[in-house]
Amino acid sequence: MSKPDSVVVIGAGPAGLTAAYELGKAGVPATVLEASDTVGGISQTVERDGWRFDIGGHRFFTKVPEVEALWHEILPDEEFLLRPRMSRIYYRGKLFDYPLKASNALGNLGVLEAIKCVLSYVMVRIRPPKDQSNFEGWVAARFGWRLYRIFFKTYTEKVWGVPATEIQADSAAQRIKNLSLFSAVLNALLPKRNQKDIASLIEEFQYPKLGPGLMWERCRDHVEGLGGEVLMQTPVERIERSEGGAVAVRAGAQRFAADHVVSSMPIGQLVRAMDPPAPAEVLAAADDLRYRDFLTVALVVPESFSFPDNWIYIHSPGVRVGRIQNFGSWSPYLVKDGRTCLGLEYFVNEGDELWTMSDDELVALGQKELAELNLVTGDVVEQGFVVRMPKAYPVYDEHYKRNVDVIRGWLAEAVPNVHPVGRNGMHRYNNQDHSMFTAMLTAKNILGASPAHDIWSVNVEEDYHEEQQTPLKPYPSDSRTGRDAPIIPRSASQRSDERAA
Ligand SMILES: Cc1cc2nc3c(=O)[nH]c(=O)nc-3n(C[C@H](O)[C@H](O)[C@H](O)COP(=O)(O)OP(=O)(O)OC[C@H]3O[C@@H](n4cnc5c(N)ncnc54)[C@H](O)[C@@H]3O)c2cc1C
Repeated sequence: MSKPDSVVVIGAGPAGLTAAYELGKAGVPATVLEASDTVGGISQTVERDGWRFDIGGHRFFTKVPEVEALWHEILPDEEFLLRPRMSRIYYRGKLFDYPLKASNALGNLGVLEAIKCVLSYVMVRIRPPKDQSNFEGWVAARFGWRLYRIFFKTYTEKVWGVPATEIQADSAAQRIKNLSLFSAVLNALLPKRNQKDIASLIEEFQYPKLGPGLMWERCRDHVEGLGGEVLMQTPVERIERSEGGAVAVRAGAQRFAADHVVSSMPIGQLVRAMDPPAPAEVLAAADDLRYRDFLTVALVVPESFSFPDNWIYIHSPGVRVGRIQNFGSWSPYLVKDGRTCLGLEYFVNEGDELWTMSDDELVALGQKELAELNLVTGDVVEQGFVVRMPKAYPVYDEHYKRNVDVIRGWLAEAVPNVHPVGRNGMHRYNNQDHSMFTAMLTAKNILGASPAHDIWSVNVEEDYHEEQQTPLKPYPSDSRTGRDAPIIPRSASQRSDERAA
């Protein structure tokens, strides 16, 4: 098979840049079109006033050897740090170890609350919740109502923006498996055997010394060094297609002829960009995909308010912040003498009350909430920055799979030379590694792999080691994969959209 003359890549996030890099190495320089002014997509490192911080915090952790090798090919070892991992749960002014440890949890809860938790557990054993088909009933049945409220309810509801009663139980069932309070406590008390390798994976992760954006800045340089182009602030608006597939990509007045198009833009928007338009049924599926959005408020504070955790989960229902990153704990190169930068994470819907607040209001809210949590007191915040990230989480609702299947089927038939990759590109809860892997395999396909790789079979369901070992990890952590995204019923997410409107 002859090499293609022109490949256009949409998006300079991990997937897009990986595809362009792999193609460049094979002698097929690609043109990358990026809507924003920053490379890295959701994995970018934001730079404001000399401060660098992530959208969330991005651990580099993978079970895919090809991706691990590529990370080290892109970034020299001296720019990669191995960082200790620590994260705790904040509840009622106390910090609980995460994953939960029985002795620490007991000490923090106090004897009286611990007794109430045990009694509440005994109660659900006698009278289990009738409806265990939802997250709330399922978890309460296994841990009792009190522990459910302390360790499961608030954060889950903050992340997904819907009541836990409306989230289907299967995500909890996958995460927490067959555990009960009894086995969780037993697990936490018993000495760990044969867990050395796993423990080291859990307790350390790789991180570029200037944040994940460094990886993608270097990757962009490699792409350009191999003859490719990365055009910033070039949002793709249209994909011209003819009988056999796509022929060109349009961004404003510019037209880029294309033998192949690799797309990491949201798959629904990709369909909407088709010219002539896709059939009505495919457009309807495209418009029916949903997302959860995200914003971060980064506050520069004196180092005395630093903490050893990379991040803290905030369980207090009285504040809206869901998680607080301490970028000083991610990399000493991200902070300056005597100060650290805290990233307050808010899970939102585009257009809702938080999303539409002014930056000043959000900085003030962040400051107020840090004071309420007693994490940063006094008038000490030196600077505050706000970053909004639309479509941070593809939402899995009861229609998403069918919608994606309809789109996939049509793309494969009508425009077989358009290749969706990555997270929103495939509407999958992919981390960087799986986003990159889909791009690596797509590059191979474009270069003539035979038989062609099935990109859609890249296994986001595959478990990381840590899942099999930690008994009580209630969160959809981004260290994990698609399994963690619960199914959010459409009715619930619609109601939360209506509240936002
Ligand atoms: C809070 C949070 C924490 C996370 N933590 C981790 C972690 O610890 N470890 C990890 O590995 N992963 C983590 N992830 C996941 C990781 O961010 C994504 O997997 C990864 O960024 C996806 O890469 P991508 O290239 O597919 O998509 P994106 O990162 O979304 O990049 C897509 C790019 O396409 C561009 N684009 C969109 N539309 C157009 C258009 N029309 N024209 C041109 N360009 C366009 C966008 O501007 C963007 O730059 C986290 C995600 C979130 C939300």
